[in-house]
Amino acid sequence: MVNAAGKFGPYDQPGQARASVVGIGQARALPLGGQSGSDLVRSRIALRVRLRSVRPGDRLPDAGVLAEELGISEITVRRALEGMCQDGLLDRRRGRAGGTFVAEDWDTVVALMHDADEAASLDAFHLLLECGLVAHGSGEAPAEPLDGLRAMVEEMELADDPAHLAELEARFHLDLAEALGGSAIREFAADLLGRLCLLLPAPQPEAVREQNRCHAELLAELGRGATDPAVQAVKAHHRSRHR
Ligand SMILES: [Zn+2]
Repeated sequence: MVNAAGKFGPYDQPGQARASVVGIGQARALPLGGQSGSDLVRSRIALRVRLRSVRPGDRLPDAGVLAEELGISEITVRRALEGMCQDGLLDRRRGRAGGTFVAEDWDTVVALMHDADEAASLDAFHLLLECGLVAHGSGEAPAEPLDGLRAMVEEMELADDPAHLAELEARFHLDLAEALGGSAIREFAADLLGRLCLLLPAPQPEAVREQNRCHAELLAELGRGATDPAVQAVKAHHRSRHR
């Protein structure tokens, strides 16, 4: 969808703050199978955990702050946080050092939420998004963000820590979406990836390393404006996720 500002998605309305994944600015739910405000809270918190901007045991910002960041009402945020506490994803602690915390056993709880069918449909949508972005941006992608993505590929080659690898894998796809489609498309990708973070466990290091070869190939093909091979690299990445 194209909004009044001629941009894809409901973002970047005149006078509205730019959306951002990691906390500042506003983000709004996309009409992707109707993600509710509550789902948006869940998926954005899940994405922050994957990106390690909050970690298990960390205290979350207050509901009012999250409401402001996500551009939704505080009452919706409170309800969503309550639901996440009931699911065991978050812990509420009372008292002076109280607040809402990411559960220490976040990964274990997420593993129990595994939903292969829903994950497959979101993943298929993510593949379409990336193929479209690559076809659209091939040969026109600005050099600087591509250099940033290449640096990330190198970092992934050297990383050992599974959580760090999973973080870099998510970051790569968010930065790729932004490099090829701008900040609104980054938010669109963040909606998909955040939801996937709750449906699938974090990828294993061997899987990320295999995918990273596809990342390197994709960047090389994008750099020389070779659209078809670049799209093939995106598809190969997708296939490796399903092995
Ligand atoms: Zn990847």
